[in-house]
Amino acid sequence: MTYHHRDPDHDHLTITPTHTTHGTPALHITTTPAGVLLTLDHLEELVAGIRDTGRQAAAGPNPQHLGGKANAEDCPACWDTNPPYPFLCPGGTP
Ligand SMILES: [Zn+2]
Repeated sequence: MTYHHRDPDHDHLTITPTHTTHGTPALHITTTPAGVLLTLDHLEELVAGIRDTGRQAAAGPNPQHLGGKANAEDCPACWDTNPPYPFLCPGGTP
């Protein structure tokens, strides 16, 4: 997910999930050269966009199943999927 915001002057802000050279999840924020005017009625929308993009950066683009009958509660790809009892990851054997 990349968050985009365009102001009344058509200047553009983009927030993209990325990571540092050390692998730490991060956000890359760019604007057009004139900067972006953020009216206060769009403040919460921007904060929500930063938060959602940050969650994606932390999760990575494609969480992989642990497989091997791992506990689904420990599997990033099974997170929030409510697999059937006995709650084992349905992914392939790693
Ligand atoms: Zn899984």
